Amino acid sequence: MRIILMGPPGAGKGTQAEQLAARYGIPHISTGDMLRQAVKDATPMGRQAKTYMDSGALVPDDVTIGAVAERLARADCGKGFLLDGFPRTIAQAEALAGILRDLGVALNGVVDIELGSEALIERLTGRRVCRRCAATYHIANRPPVRAGLCDKCGGELYQRGDDSIATARNRLDVYQKQTQPLIAYYSQAGLLRQIPGAADPESVFQAICAVFE
Ligand code: ADP
Ligand code: AMP
Repeated sequence: MRIILMGPPGAGKGTQAEQLAARYGIPHISTGDMLRQAVKDATPMGRQAKTYMDSGALVPDDVTIGAVAERLARADCGKGFLLDGFPRTIAQAEALAGILRDLGVALNGVVDIELGSEALIERLTGRRVCRRCAATYHIANRPPVRAGLCDKCGGELYQRGDDSIATARNRLDVYQKQTQPLIAYYSQAGLLRQIPGAADPESVFQAICAVFE
């Protein structure tokens, strides 16, 4: 199964991707997670990406395209993959088409999770992430059992710097300008399925699974 999960920041891509990856036995490839790890490890890619990420801008296309090309060529993608947060520009989508052509594989579908901007801001500003295992929580919708600690690994929960209200607003603007054109792009390719994202995580998950089953 080869799936792209699209949607604005805060729509629930990471939350759904975790479950979908387990259901279909495919790797969850999040460019945001890859970039945050690179920033943490202070790799050349991380140093290049940090300023863009801090402000909520997209990092340059060549950085993410190179990282995704390398990731998709690994053996664990032989059974398929779930892309979360990539592509985010038409140039990235065109590069991905080339990568998949070279690998001799095709996409099964592109799922776009839809949610209005007020709800997105509420989700982003309330999000908390485990420093150790990157599991995601929400202070109101999905609180951990023990405040400030990850249910899965006991790691410390933190608020992403780019989930501040000002940067979250900027990220929604960036999404509208640079990523939304992909909806028409994948719709024209006959691959797009739009899923309302306002329901609880389990209902959204069932709706996504119904697309593929
Ligand atoms: P994205 O990966 O699209 O940026 P996340 O999956 O990290 O979004 O979700 C953003 C926030 O919203 C997180 O705090 C998450 O716990 C919460 N969340 C995700 N899906 C839902 C949902 N269906 N209902 C309520 N809250 C949700
Ligand atoms: P995310 O974790 O998906 O919310 O992404 C966090 C940040 O990483 C974004 O605001 C961008 O700065 C950067 N990023 C993630 N994926 C991409 C991408 N495909 N293209 C450009 N920048 C990206």
